[in-house]
Amino acid sequence: MVDVSVVVPCFNESEVIDAFHAELVAALEPTGTAFEVCYVDDGSSDLTAEHVRNLADTDPRVRYTSFSRNFGKESAMLAGLRMSQGDAVVLMDADLQHPPELVPRMLELHRHGYDQVVAQRDRTGEGAVRTALSRAYYRVVRRFMEVEIVDGVGDFRLLSRRAVNAILSLPESNRFSKGLFSWIGFDTVSFTYENVERAAGQSKWGGRHLLNYGIDGLLSFNSRPLRMAIHTGLWLFLSALVYALWIIANVVLNGVDTPGYATLITAIVALSGIQLATLGVIGEYVGRIYHESKRRPHYVVRETDDTRTDGPGRPERPLETVGQGRSKP
Ligand code: UDP
Ligand code: MG
Repeated sequence: MVDVSVVVPCFNESEVIDAFHAELVAALEPTGTAFEVCYVDDGSSDLTAEHVRNLADTDPRVRYTSFSRNFGKESAMLAGLRMSQGDAVVLMDADLQHPPELVPRMLELHRHGYDQVVAQRDRTGEGAVRTALSRAYYRVVRRFMEVEIVDGVGDFRLLSRRAVNAILSLPESNRFSKGLFSWIGFDTVSFTYENVERAAGQSKWGGRHLLNYGIDGLLSFNSRPLRMAIHTGLWLFLSALVYALWIIANVVLNGVDTPGYATLITAIVALSGIQLATLGVIGEYVGRIYHESKRRPHYVVRETDDTRTDGPGRPERPLETVGQGRSKP
């Protein structure tokens, strides 16, 4: 039986993965816990898959899943959670930005009864622009979202088995895990650590990717944008009503006069703008419904530690090709 599973999504991390594994083992061995490490190779185009396979060959505590292409970190984390067997699961990045030496502390807090232990990073060493943008984003998110999301809280966290089961029971294909972690609830504790630069390799999150991720987060967790559209419509209707009454009163009291052409154009342009924007918001939600309704699996597996056929002394088994979809209704 394993006490702790460490789930590590890896995308093109061949430069750091061996160093990461060594540090992780060095941090966990002294604690005497029985642990396993679940690597998920997210369709890397470099040698990450080979590195992970080698680790599994040399260390019996290593298990892995390899995707057929890049499906994104959310899918990789999901695959890792599904393959984990431990009573507690620690999610961490492969690039050593999540220091392995903090894991024993997380386990300690978990033993005190917390279901989620969150390591929250500060923003030392990050560009001023990025920091400011992130701050602004979190302010907006806090206003608009129905779940609470805290600045600096990433995916570095420990989940108890029942929290993992709660996460796995959520079937949506559009997964915004920051929101999901907050949605499942349970007793959560967090502590802060100093932000570390990535050890080697490159960040996969460019500005555009981050922006889309942000929009995703805003939309996938609430229907407030739709609510806002209704409110805008109502206010517009009310002000139009007042304006119309005022014109009628004017006509009755002062006789007919020719109304301005400019007012008309302004009203038309403003209204069509609002209508188009609202349509866009609705379209975004319809797109999401379409996406969900296809009910595709979250990822396709190329190989796992027990389906590989080339290793020494491995039994030949049929290749499981598709990550188990959601449970049947
Ligand atoms: N990652 C992944 N799939 C992706 C992108 C990233 O599995 O499509 C992994 C990556 O290997 C790393 C973690 O997610 O372990 C965080 O990625 P990164 O360090 O690039 O993000 P940042 O720390 O810059 O936010
Ligand atoms: Mg990183």
